[in-house]
Amino acid sequence: MKTGIDAAAVVVATVLLGLFLRVKQGSPPSWYLVLEKLIGIGFVGSALVTALILPLSATAGKIWFLYYTLQVALYAFLPGKSYDGLALAKKPEAISCVYDRKNEKTGKVEYFLKYRCNGLLAFVIILATYFIGGYVGLFEYTLIYDNFASLLNWVNVFSFTCSLLLYIKGLFSPDRITRNNPIEDFWYGTELNPHTWIIDWKFFSESRPGLIGWVLVNFSIAAAQYKQLGYITTPMLLVSIFHFIYVFDYFWVESYIYSTWDITDERFGWMLLWGDYVWVPFYYTIQSWYLLYLPRDYHWSYNALNIAVFFFGYLLFRGANGQKHNFKENPNKLWWFWGCHVNKAPKTLQTTVTEKNPRGTKLLIDGWWGMARHINYLGDLILAISWGMPCAFETYITYGYFFFMLGLLLHRFARDDAKCAEKYGKDWDSYCKAVPYKLIPFVF
Ligand code: NDP
Repeated sequence: MKTGIDAAAVVVATVLLGLFLRVKQGSPPSWYLVLEKLIGIGFVGSALVTALILPLSATAGKIWFLYYTLQVALYAFLPGKSYDGLALAKKPEAISCVYDRKNEKTGKVEYFLKYRCNGLLAFVIILATYFIGGYVGLFEYTLIYDNFASLLNWVNVFSFTCSLLLYIKGLFSPDRITRNNPIEDFWYGTELNPHTWIIDWKFFSESRPGLIGWVLVNFSIAAAQYKQLGYITTPMLLVSIFHFIYVFDYFWVESYIYSTWDITDERFGWMLLWGDYVWVPFYYTIQSWYLLYLPRDYHWSYNALNIAVFFFGYLLFRGANGQKHNFKENPNKLWWFWGCHVNKAPKTLQTTVTEKNPRGTKLLIDGWWGMARHINYLGDLILAISWGMPCAFETYITYGYFFFMLGLLLHRFARDDAKCAEKYGKDWDSYCKAVPYKLIPFVF
């Protein structure tokens, strides 16, 4: 077992080195390009093996069907504030609910989508259903834990099926963006905003089944510990609470998502879909599993340190993402945290209007965004460390999420940097000079 973990650690270290070089040099080393494809094949391959070896029980199938149908119904019918999304690069032909407005600066018509944010209400209703259902004896609180392997596989098979349907839908879509390689098209997807009726599948899938599922899986594992020990240990509680806060926060400011890369740039294919549905709820709960099998308690001072690390990461993560989002909505005020703003215009870098940058978008070089170009990623990484801390430092496995996030964010950084360099041209070089640090102020 130990040798297996060490071998996995070497592979992870190699991948991270490749990504680090890619970010540092601006272009990927050729051996990394091969590795990148192998990683993709490894993910899809292990998901296919999972589909073959894990069971598909009728009970788990019913749970997934009811849960998913409820999620879609809540998304479609619950009331919620509607937000206008950012301008789209071009008018989507396959979507009926697309809106237009006149760009005040250029006088040109631009197209956008609306995002109805009713996720917080859906989250509350689903949690209430879980707690009330368990309390009145409709099911046990350990329902998910009891059916875990089969549930994982149902969601896995479901994700493959949906990705295939998306791929086929994309073949006939006028909005298709293709890399002329069927495997890459399946992996990355071919449509930016696939819709059916009023359902924006990417926006829905980004959070509803996966993020809420993540919290429910944690609660169910904590319930299993309660059954085993007669109480829930503090580290188990901390993991559940940390993850709950992260997800609650997502829904509290749900509209912030429409200005992020996933919504503006990422197409909807296997990578995002499988990640949202399978990877997030079933893998992000790894610390809860560890604590179920190896329960423990620590001195209060260690727990206090753990909580402090969590809130520090949270401050960076929420502060930076909130600041950029509010800046995009109103570039004339410098926002700090949850609605607080200092009464001065932030320092910005005005970019030139070009075909690729028709709005001449301003870049923020003040506040969190004056410290490093992806200070928000640093926040996420510190959060990831705080989520491993309840398991102490006995194995790499409980920091698997941290290493995964490091890989994902370095990869994202490289792709985002390439996208912005193309969009902003020489202005991007000036931005990199104005904010020289990539991730960690004064270090990297
Ligand atoms: P960003 O929110 O940083 O979005 C990048 C885009 O923002 C760029 O393409 C650019 O778009 C714009 N931008 C970049 N710098 C500036 C600036 N200085 N001023 C104005 N606009 C700027 O990245 P992501 O969407 O990738 O991440 C959002 C959050 O989600 C992060 O905190 C990340 O860690 C987290 N995340 C979490 C995951 C998880 O599984 N837990 C997975 C992925 C992300 P443009 O100029 O074209 O508008």
